[in-house]
Amino acid sequence: MKFLDASIWEGKIFNGTWITAPVSATIVEPATGEPLGQAGFGDVAAVDALAAVDAAAQPQWGDAAPEVRAGVIRQAARTLADHTAEIAEWIVRETGSVQGKADFEIGLALAELHQAAALVTQPIGHVLPAAVPDRLNLAIRVPFGVVGVIAPWNFPLILGMRSVAPALAVGNAVVLKPDPQTPVSGGVVIARLFQEAGLPAGLLSVIPGGADVGEAVVTNPRVRMVTFTGSSAVGRRVGELAGRHLKRAALELGGNNAMIVLDDCDIDAASSAGAWGSFLHQGQICMTTGRHIVMRSVAERYAAALAERAQRLPVGDPFRNKQVALGPIINARQIEKIHRIVTETVGAGAKVRAGGTYEKQFYQPTVLTEVTPEMPAFREEIFGPVAPITIVEDENEAVRVANATEYGLVAAVRTGSLTRGMAIARRLKTGMVHVNDQTVNNLSYAPFGGTGASGNGFRFGSLSNGEEFTELRWITAGDQQLSYPF
Ligand code: NAD
Repeated sequence: MKFLDASIWEGKIFNGTWITAPVSATIVEPATGEPLGQAGFGDVAAVDALAAVDAAAQPQWGDAAPEVRAGVIRQAARTLADHTAEIAEWIVRETGSVQGKADFEIGLALAELHQAAALVTQPIGHVLPAAVPDRLNLAIRVPFGVVGVIAPWNFPLILGMRSVAPALAVGNAVVLKPDPQTPVSGGVVIARLFQEAGLPAGLLSVIPGGADVGEAVVTNPRVRMVTFTGSSAVGRRVGELAGRHLKRAALELGGNNAMIVLDDCDIDAASSAGAWGSFLHQGQICMTTGRHIVMRSVAERYAAALAERAQRLPVGDPFRNKQVALGPIINARQIEKIHRIVTETVGAGAKVRAGGTYEKQFYQPTVLTEVTPEMPAFREEIFGPVAPITIVEDENEAVRVANATEYGLVAAVRTGSLTRGMAIARRLKTGMVHVNDQTVNNLSYAPFGGTGASGNGFRFGSLSNGEEFTELRWITAGDQQLSYPF
């Protein structure tokens, strides 16, 4: 039987075993509009029931020897490596991504599992000076209990796995709610990996669904911490709910990321990086290069080179034609949003240098010039294959324009001078900056996260994970049984 055979998961949710779901929904392939299968969705009652099972199973897992937890996670990594072709096919068809993006995503998920397995043997606290001689004074990290994970559809496997793997590694149980558009790549795959790896029952619940299921996860009293990856608008709602219920919420949100192109850089290489940053996965990445901020003296050469690259990129169904560079946009609502932003920006005075059109779900890679900071393509996160170019006169203006957004996820700077690049990197108000690269970068062991409307200060990454998925407990202890004046 195949690893992802539909008979295993269709119409079901997961909690160590597959359970008949209260709701069933059709998964649609964005490239064709055709059905791919019938997913099981949860509801509020299912979240309550499975979170209770998780809470009951968690203490034993939290107390298990680190090597026991690491062993399960290593086995999940081996299982992933054994089934990459089948998993990649689901990512390609469910998210509309090209094969290379699916392979890249699987590689990232594998790295997350390896890092999580190594996390179990990292120090779990510190020894403090004793206030009274011979008393132990410790701060130790303990798991939250049950962690809720809510992930989007664009990189569903990695964005679920980057929370699930470290949360389990440090001894939590997990309730995972994948996006309703990608219940297999973002849910079933992760459930199957840990099922095959022998994770004890009740430690991982996978409950696909929409906003109602997501809010049930955030508000469930047994879920003590939530990691949410998605839009800033929904992130605000999740943050409000988590605040009301007094639980920690890690919010990884939208971006409108700038790449600054200085007058001393290699324009050909910069245009290649710019095309990759704006068009990879049709621009549907939180780290997508959403604004190209270019010094006037090189702006025309840069725009021409970028437009030339955009015009060369084939767009189409990535499952049936392996040669395409861009696949479909995830849904009709999103393609309308992209086109609305392009149309309004052109209406406000910008020029189309490439693309600007679409057919069905396929949007042409688009380059807009003469974009100013008031225009929608500058202000909004487009989440589509659109590269808006804004001209600036000097470095100071470049920094000011790059920072003129409520978002703060990532930025890039292209320059022939490392000193110049580093000086600018220090002035950009983002969680991540890459000098002489583009904005789409992720490493399992580097701190990933944003500032401002891009997040609330949480950082993914191996050492950060040990802190983020646990809380500190202060313990004092001594043989002497202390007494007091009364
Ligand atoms: P979205 O916010 O609409 O949905 C994300 C997830 O939240 C989905 O699982 C969805 O079902 C769920 N959800 C929706 N309403 C909810 C609610 N009221 N309560 C709880 N959960 C709810 O995001 P999207 O538009 O599908 O994804 C794209 C967005 O995600 C973009 O803004 C992108 O920048 C962002 N993103 C950020 C990162 C990051 O690491 N910073 C990574 C990928 C995507």
